[in-house]
Amino acid sequence: MSITPLMPVYPRCGVRPVRGDNCHLISEDGRRFLDFASGIAVNLLGHSHPGLIGAIQQQAETLMHVSNLYGSPQGERLAERLVDLTFADTVFFTNSGAEAVEAAMKTARAYHQHDGNEERFEIITFKNAFHGRTMATISASNQEKMHKGFMPLLPGFRYVEFEDLEGVKAAIGPNTAAIMVEPVQGEGGIRVASKGFIHALRELADANDLMLIFDEVQCGVARTGTLYAYEQYGIEPDILATAKGIGGGFPLGACLASEKAARGMVIGTHGSTYGGNPLAMAAGNAVLDAVANDDFLTHVREMGEKLRGRLEQFIGNYPNLFSEVRGLGLMLGVKMAVESRQFVAHLRDHHGLLTVAAGDNVFRILPPLVINDEHIDEFMEKLSAGAADYTP
Ligand SMILES: *Cc1c(COP(=O)(O)O)cnc(C)c1O
Repeated sequence: MSITPLMPVYPRCGVRPVRGDNCHLISEDGRRFLDFASGIAVNLLGHSHPGLIGAIQQQAETLMHVSNLYGSPQGERLAERLVDLTFADTVFFTNSGAEAVEAAMKTARAYHQHDGNEERFEIITFKNAFHGRTMATISASNQEKMHKGFMPLLPGFRYVEFEDLEGVKAAIGPNTAAIMVEPVQGEGGIRVASKGFIHALRELADANDLMLIFDEVQCGVARTGTLYAYEQYGIEPDILATAKGIGGGFPLGACLASEKAARGMVIGTHGSTYGGNPLAMAAGNAVLDAVANDDFLTHVREMGEKLRGRLEQFIGNYPNLFSEVRGLGLMLGVKMAVESRQFVAHLRDHHGLLTVAAGDNVFRILPPLVINDEHIDEFMEKLSAGAADYTP
């Protein structure tokens, strides 16, 4: 047999982390890495946050899992907190981002179809978007590399160029149910939607009775310097998918919705065996304890500005390698003039620095949100050394 026990769907590299230490990872062979990838925007409190560890330990000893057939004091508490902190009136908990997006899409369709409007099913999404790897979420993206081998796709999606307002208008018809957008495209290459575009989407949704869904799976939970990125646009979505950072490393996601948007999500319409179990709720509550306050969010914004300033100054030294810094808060990307994937591997293998490649030849910088000045200094040193000895 030549297939590996781990199904070989990932191009796994030689780094094999076995331990975390705040903003660093230690590999099996004892090497130490500065982790500015955070498990792809997941470990926002770093790797050894006492509050998160304590909450999970305590809950594991008390009660790990019960069915959603029973009352959930732990889930009610986290849902109430999210409702207080956001536009949402109600929350459905999931175990991953793709499931949160699935719940968001089902909520949007049910909004129209609960009273028999079954022709309203189409969801407008954007090119180079990433919404997950389930059948529905790959269907929601135009990226052919995710489709190949898995046809046919789920019908009911229209792909429009990111920021192309006229394209959105042209795509709206009698079958349209919703518009779904990442306010900051993550996998697509850290592309920040403009204020004008997002405002126009809100207006189009209102004018046509469409649900506006934000996929904040990557950019949500304090990553951009506000609890959710939508806050910086001065509008509210109807439905929002969140995951990645929200469990701080524990698998957790959620679909947030306004009361109006959730009108079709009645008893028996949706469910999840694990979704919102006490252990996940303990992790989510511990993450909110840490991040949902002005001091923490100010820290993220300050660190984001500092890091961005340093990067902007730095990339000018290597115009043959780097062309632009993009992003919001501590969700940053550097556009490269060369292939970014190999540079990410170079930083990792030769300079002990973890970053993440993305589309559009961007490499992503997604540090734990608890970084301080020393981590930024260490990052810039490693990046400088990496750029100096890199031959594309
Ligand atoms: C990662 C991601 C997802 C999918 O999340 P999973 O937990 O991998 O299912 C969905 N949307 C966006 C924007 C993401 O970045």
